[in-house]
Amino acid sequence: MVILFGTHPKFSEHDTGSLHPESAERLLAVRRGIDVSDVKDAIEYFLPEPATVEQMSRVHEPSYIEALRRFCLMGGGMLDPDTAASVASWEAAALAAGAGIGAAEKIAAGEADGAFLAVRPPGHHAVSDRAMGFCLINNVAVLAAELVSKGERVLVYDFDAHHGNGTQEMFFQSSSVLYVSAHQYPLYPGTGRAREVGIGEGKGFTLNLPFHADTAGPTYLEALERMVAPVVEHFSPTWTLISAGFDAHRLDPLTEMGLTSADFGDLTLWIKALVPEAKVVAFLEGGYNLSALEQSTAATLSALAGQSLKPEPNSNGPVDFEMIKALEESRKRALSD
Ligand SMILES: [Zn+2]
Repeated sequence: MVILFGTHPKFSEHDTGSLHPESAERLLAVRRGIDVSDVKDAIEYFLPEPATVEQMSRVHEPSYIEALRRFCLMGGGMLDPDTAASVASWEAAALAAGAGIGAAEKIAAGEADGAFLAVRPPGHHAVSDRAMGFCLINNVAVLAAELVSKGERVLVYDFDAHHGNGTQEMFFQSSSVLYVSAHQYPLYPGTGRAREVGIGEGKGFTLNLPFHADTAGPTYLEALERMVAPVVEHFSPTWTLISAGFDAHRLDPLTEMGLTSADFGDLTLWIKALVPEAKVVAFLEGGYNLSALEQSTAATLSALAGQSLKPEPNSNGPVDFEMIKALEESRKRALSD
């Protein structure tokens, strides 16, 4: 069993300024997660290469990529009220996007069984022509598009507490990428309602689970079983790309969700068990409490290697059947429109 752990020193040079929650310290916490995991011996470090402009252009406007490159090289600054870039951010962003491509090549060649990519900046809010929500280039989308160009069917499984509006938008009209997101709603960025199901050829290939604040593990798993399992099994992905944000942890300072580190392990084991034939690459997205990030990474790394590790007990609480039923009805209405 080999699990790639992809990271790069440049990721720490992406400087968001002091007091920004998306800090370089996050990667130190993620690295400590390797020691907490019970699969240390399975970890193989891997140093990514940058994605090419052509690879990034599958999901981003070439004019945006060039503008971002220049903005960073001229010193950077604020791209939106939340999103900062520094001189090193261009290289970091290109490496973060390239990490997925490099990891997927190794997995496809049979050199590894899965990958966890400890990248900065994160990606899932970046849209085709704009940086957004701490994200510059949409890392998971760059890999999804690369795999689709090779004829693969790609599931993007996004359990970050925020909706991955960028990823959804990029594949909203595509039937080759199934985008599934469980997130807090309402919350930044404001998208991700159950009635957003895709359009045209992509109708049915976007599946949103907008959960209210404090939603805990039992409700996540029930909604996954009832709403996600049939769709994913029918889609039968050849690859599962995980937008592994850990900000749905109950200690996260930016959100109000109810998960624990053990739940992130279970969410990962669940999708692996559902489509065991799909190859898995997980990308770090959010997660802003450092000890929660360390433990959640440990549980997720263990799960990628097929192990159940519980650094703390699972969350509990009653399943919110009423909310799930309302989500099912809203999705059904949107699909029949
Ligand atoms: Zn997030």
